[in-house]
Amino acid sequence: MDHTFHLHHHQGKLTVILVVSLSLDVSVFFLTVPSEDARHSSVPPAHEVDAEFHGTGKNLFCNYHTGLNAQPCDANGHFLPPSTPPLPLTEQLPDDWSPFRNCTEFETAEFLYSRAQMSAPNINTLLDLWAASLLKHGDMPPFADHKDLYKTIDNIPIGGVNWQSFKIQYSGEKPDILSRIPNTNHYSFLNTHVPSWMSQQFDVWYRNPREVARNILANPDYVNDFDYRPFHEYSVSKEEHHYQDFMSGDWAWKQVDILATDPDTLGATFVPIILGSDKTMVSVGTGNNEYYPLYLSIGNVHNNVRRAHRDALCLVGFLAIPKTTNEHKETEEFCDFRRQIFHSSLAKILETFKKPMSKPEVARFGDGHYRRVLYGLGPYIADYEEQVLLTSIVRNWCPRCLAPRGKLDDDEALCRCEAHREALFKEDTSDVLRRDFGIVGSIVPFTNDFPRADIHQLIAPDILHQIIKGCFKDHLVTWVEKYLHHVHGKREAERRMDDINRRLAAATPFTGLRRFPQGRGFKQWTGDDSKALMKIYLPAIEGHVPTDVIRTFRAFLEFCYLVRRNVIMEDTISQIEDALRRFHHYCSIFLWLGVVPTFSLPRQHSMKHYPDLICLFGAPNGLCSSMMENKHIKAVKQPWRWSNRYNALGQMLVTNQRLDKIAALRVDFAKCGMLNGTCLSDASAALAIELSIPNVQDLIGRFLFEQLHPRDPRDHATIPLHSFPIYDGKISVVNSASSRFYAPSDLSGIGGMRREHIRSCPNWRNAHTRYDCMFINAQPDLEGMRGLQIAHALCFFSFKYKFVLYKCAIVHWFDVIGDTPDEDTGMWVVQPSFDGHSLNILVIHIDTIYHAAHLLPHYGVDFIPRAINFSNSLDKFRAFYVNKFTDHHAFEIAF
Ligand SMILES: [Zn+2]
Repeated sequence: MDHTFHLHHHQGKLTVILVVSLSLDVSVFFLTVPSEDARHSSVPPAHEVDAEFHGTGKNLFCNYHTGLNAQPCDANGHFLPPSTPPLPLTEQLPDDWSPFRNCTEFETAEFLYSRAQMSAPNINTLLDLWAASLLKHGDMPPFADHKDLYKTIDNIPIGGVNWQSFKIQYSGEKPDILSRIPNTNHYSFLNTHVPSWMSQQFDVWYRNPREVARNILANPDYVNDFDYRPFHEYSVSKEEHHYQDFMSGDWAWKQVDILATDPDTLGATFVPIILGSDKTMVSVGTGNNEYYPLYLSIGNVHNNVRRAHRDALCLVGFLAIPKTTNEHKETEEFCDFRRQIFHSSLAKILETFKKPMSKPEVARFGDGHYRRVLYGLGPYIADYEEQVLLTSIVRNWCPRCLAPRGKLDDDEALCRCEAHREALFKEDTSDVLRRDFGIVGSIVPFTNDFPRADIHQLIAPDILHQIIKGCFKDHLVTWVEKYLHHVHGKREAERRMDDINRRLAAATPFTGLRRFPQGRGFKQWTGDDSKALMKIYLPAIEGHVPTDVIRTFRAFLEFCYLVRRNVIMEDTISQIEDALRRFHHYCSIFLWLGVVPTFSLPRQHSMKHYPDLICLFGAPNGLCSSMMENKHIKAVKQPWRWSNRYNALGQMLVTNQRLDKIAALRVDFAKCGMLNGTCLSDASAALAIELSIPNVQDLIGRFLFEQLHPRDPRDHATIPLHSFPIYDGKISVVNSASSRFYAPSDLSGIGGMRREHIRSCPNWRNAHTRYDCMFINAQPDLEGMRGLQIAHALCFFSFKYKFVLYKCAIVHWFDVIGDTPDEDTGMWVVQPSFDGHSLNILVIHIDTIYHAAHLLPHYGVDFIPRAINFSNSLDKFRAFYVNKFTDHHAFEIAF
């Protein structure tokens, strides 16, 4: 059942052939997805009034848009009277585990398929062993073999939207080549030089994105992290605007302004569709395979949900990657075709959204209510190459504004928009468009098929590609290298690069911090590597580069951490603009010194658009492509590894579908309270060892005195030793203390809670001793570093004294140097604290530990000796930076 149609606006050069998924094993694809099927409890929506105080404890005033007020309705779209409860749960017995027979079957399936990702032969072996051990009891294992397991998973009725495909083929004119017939003087038109891409068919796999969006809407997991309406949020005291989740931005607000003028949209709910695509490579010994996944999310779920590894960001398609020989790669026809295939594929995949973008459709929500839904195309997350493709511009121009190529940062430029582009088309020739406006002729963007969508305004900020990979890694770090070569010549530059690499390798360890044992000279460079390098780079180049370069990096790093904040206030935007101004000011040193010929770099230029983009779309970390990079692993890389690598895509789609089904069933069972009580006991064991710190008994005595007499006004150093309690009982020593803290800007658990371990172990991972540093709360009423002290954990232990359990740490103090941070790096400097000639050591209660701290040696201008490495650098230097760039939390506290 193939049917063919033409996409009119592409001038008939392209044919899309719709093919229903027949080329794959059809039995695994379910043809319908009953998205109204979800069974949910009733959670009252938190948006009944138009303005209210949010319960965030921050005293915020929230102003909801009154245009579309997300009114609940019944399944037929008739509005319900106010405060009608949602429809009751679909009757489900608490022991209905279907299609599984019981809890054990479901948990086994989830464990084998989703978590252990066991291969089919291994599943069979395990089930055979299981059967053998059960034989004497006359019992059977949960599944007969892997086929039985897969079949049961495929029978899960929810969570999977079926995959479909269409083929796409060039249908424009093929070139006729005038060639001389061999050995004659006759010429004839031959068709043999037609490049293969002109006759090739390209497969595009996708699943109905509207069904996927409806599944996200219906997911009861997100009910507390969901905005039904656009809103503006202000602090009550300062009347300062807060930007955070997507619906707090001005874009959603303005869209609803437009929609609300139509009386048919009354009472509806606006659902912005967020898209992203990003090519990814899977490698085997024999070669590479490139895939081009397309992801979808909705703007209503909060940024933290979209960022965490939950299913609020879904795989909806695999776009085609047309390839050709080098001979044809740069030809205008092929470039046009590549653009067309991209835009036509998107328009085709998204076509089911078109109608409910103007006329509401009824959908079930996670809170159990039905609402009338209106979709709109929202921001598109893509790297610069794809932005060029999306907006049909010439490379090295800006996709958002008309700043001239080669002078991107010189002046303020007008924003691009579709209306302007179309006006230009009427007046100018394609040569003028290309030269003066950076516009590529004939392509019509996919957004033109949809109401209210203007691709230029929908290009999302992308911290990972623009700021971290672009600005930092590709520009700044490269320029430092170029600078060294430029000033010192090759030999001396290499000597200095070696020192920088040694300094990087000597950076002290820190939880979550990637190490660079060989410095940065390795080939496979990932986004995570760049993020890690950012954290430790600044002190490593100090002394090798002029002050202005140090200040460039400081301004850049501050910009980066500010835009990565989870909540961005008007005041933060001023700070971002200030950091950007300083960055442009100091960075001009690279130009003066002749290190770089121009700053007209699109990814660097994109920094200028961040303040505006934050106002439009909320905090950029809710849209960053790093979310997609994480998703690649689960959606592309792991399923690829499971496949037999021959025609892998079909197998990958099946894997994705099964994973989605298991995940959806888990949500459903959990909602019915069926998965409570499966937890493992805490298996932490304390290790008791002899302490090798002298006078530890005196230290404990002093600690106990302070605990028992917290109000004693005397300076404790003057109290004679014999006044302290004496403890000579048992001590339990442990290797680490863990603290839970809120880190919304990191990729972490839901709600941004993250657990962090501070270690103190003489033989960490059997190779090196590791003693972590930490921030200690000294004066909680003071801000930043002024209220904190830095200490080095030597040992964590606990003991009981008079029936009270004390959890403590033996620490070595650091003293802060000066009363402000270092002017160039913006970081505080500390030195080891001494009591006479011995280190200043104390016992503290672990409740005073605030967060792990990362210290980086103050390398100064000297080259570092070869004997220094990451495990001893903390003992070998006299001063250290308190690294505020090590993670988001440190940036917020070490100022
Ligand atoms: Zn621009």
